[in-house]
Amino acid sequence: MYIFGNINLMLFVIDFDGTLARTDTVDTMLEKFASPAWKDVEQDWQSGRITAIECMGQQIRMVRAEPVALEAFFESIELDPSFLPFYHHARRFGTVAIVSDGLDHPIQVATRKAGLPEMPVFANRLHFVPHGIDISFPHLNPCCGAGNGVCKCAIARDLAQPEGSVVLIGDGKSDACLAHQADVVFAKKSLLSYCEEQGIAHIPFGCFDDVLAVVAQWPTHPPQKLPLAA
Ligand SMILES: [Mg+2]
Ligand SMILES: [Zn+2]
Repeated sequence: MYIFGNINLMLFVIDFDGTLARTDTVDTMLEKFASPAWKDVEQDWQSGRITAIECMGQQIRMVRAEPVALEAFFESIELDPSFLPFYHHARRFGTVAIVSDGLDHPIQVATRKAGLPEMPVFANRLHFVPHGIDISFPHLNPCCGAGNGVCKCAIARDLAQPEGSVVLIGDGKSDACLAHQADVVFAKKSLLSYCEEQGIAHIPFGCFDDVLAVVAQWPTHPPQKLPLAA
């Protein structure tokens, strides 16, 4: 138990696929367990014929596998080994939550397998059905222009303390809506180019070691405005 006075104010929003997990675990699952036609569905979405949510639903329902095989795959998901030291430091500032536009159950399995502490997880829900899986969207926000299954900006709004800062750590499209509103953005891959295009202040990173190197310089009592890298 940490006792630092009233500093429990910061919210760290951690993306899963490509950020905490080294790869996109939904794509890897489709590669392994769905018919190759999942890529046609991806095309339909990229060319605007279907929405992101329709795309995800169709692709997830193309998975043909038994729970045993799927669970073994979820347990094999590799996480960034530098996350844990970052997590222990970040917890002194407030809440660390995994917020993902992927599936909740694989995140639970992979983080438990890696021995990470219990953390709040917000993601789309995986349902096992005979010989496959299905998906539902408990965190859908029809008002979010990004059209994701999980609206990261709405979740950050719900979780953040009234005067607390929001720190986003992510790598892709599902992070874009929150990138506009977060106080600090750590970005890599397509989120990095998105921030550059949109003129959003951001700190580039490769792994959580890089994030920790920055966060470790913040005073334990966070100031109103955090020191941002150029
Ligand atoms: Mg991602
Ligand atoms: Zn949103």
